[in-house]
Amino acid sequence: MTHIYERLGIKPIINALGPATRVSGSIMPTEVADAMRDASQYCVDITSLQARASQIISGHTGAEAGYVTSGAAAGLLLGTAACVTGLDPTRMNRLPDTTGMKNRVVMARSHRNFYDHAVRSVGIELVEIGIADRYSGAGVRDAEPWEYAAAIDEHTAAVVYVAYEHTQPDLASVVAVAHEAGVPVIVDAAGQLPPASNLKRFIVEGADLVAYSGGKAIRGPQASGILCGRRDLIEAVALQHLDLDILWDQWNPPVELIDKRHLPGAPHHGIGRPCKVGKEEIVGLLTALDLFVQQDPAARRADWLTLMEQLLSAAGEIRGVELALVNDPKRSEIPVVTAQIDADVCGMSALDVIRRLQDGDPSIQANPTHVREGGVAFGPMCLKEGEPEIVGRRLREVLSA
Ligand SMILES: *Cc1c(COP(=O)(O)O)cnc(C)c1O
Repeated sequence: MTHIYERLGIKPIINALGPATRVSGSIMPTEVADAMRDASQYCVDITSLQARASQIISGHTGAEAGYVTSGAAAGLLLGTAACVTGLDPTRMNRLPDTTGMKNRVVMARSHRNFYDHAVRSVGIELVEIGIADRYSGAGVRDAEPWEYAAAIDEHTAAVVYVAYEHTQPDLASVVAVAHEAGVPVIVDAAGQLPPASNLKRFIVEGADLVAYSGGKAIRGPQASGILCGRRDLIEAVALQHLDLDILWDQWNPPVELIDKRHLPGAPHHGIGRPCKVGKEEIVGLLTALDLFVQQDPAARRADWLTLMEQLLSAAGEIRGVELALVNDPKRSEIPVVTAQIDADVCGMSALDVIRRLQDGDPSIQANPTHVREGGVAFGPMCLKEGEPEIVGRRLREVLSA
């Protein structure tokens, strides 16, 4: 049986890294792929489909409204734009020129990351606060709520907060100072699933907008994401994302998503128009989201654990390598296998191991996050049946060479 990648002359890889964009994200359940195929065979009014998506996302997140984006990064761009313009079409048309608008976004230095380019592309000035003393090794402190309060002024459009287990300060205290000044908080929760309870958590803690990836643990289309939050902000998002090549008198968007009475006229295509989302992605994301929340976390975890045990036992004992199964549900929902490489005994570094796995046939991707400390890690999320054995054997081969 030939598959599409054979016909294209592209070799699939074994993905023991996880749903990273560089390695094409996760593997969609067949139900999701089928739903996308079904969706592709009809035409629909895309605004009505987004309005329906909003209801479904509301149901899962507890937010007032929701929207399907082309990814979490697109959600950050769209959410920032919404906070800068509100429902003013003149402002929407002017972006990324933000002269005269609220055009500063406050972010802790320790939250800065490569994805905040999406925030900056709206034309705002990023105002950094705090010093990540605990990351430098010099101290114990990070940004503190009073520093947010001191940085917020009449030009502040939003606070952007990146949610991780280790993020400081806690979201609720940032929300408290931001809301005191009437400033919305946008949460980047791209990778904070599972647990599924995190779909509601940040909204409960007061976030005004929350962005998730659709192509990570949800296992939706790789180019999809969720943005959920305040109804007026999602309305401003929709206005700056949807294709608006339509006559005002013909235009009849569902009032739950876009209420024409809020507008003097329709804006042009907005700053979010290049992040367009097709019907296939919307339907795929909604299908994947339903499956994700229905899934029994204990069963999912047990499946992942089995894959990791198979990898570990295929690797066996390797001289100079400390192999371990890290399975601590309190710290992470996702069990992983770690290999600590003693470079002197093995005659190669952790990075050498990563590169040899990558250069082999089939090419294997492992997690390089801790290579500088001699660590190579393997995750279960994108492994298919039979692949853990291949990875374990290959690891053994590489290190015995
Ligand atoms: C993955 C990730 C993103 C980007 O998500 P996409 O859905 O690929 O756009 C943004 N922020 C963080 C923290 C991430 O981990």
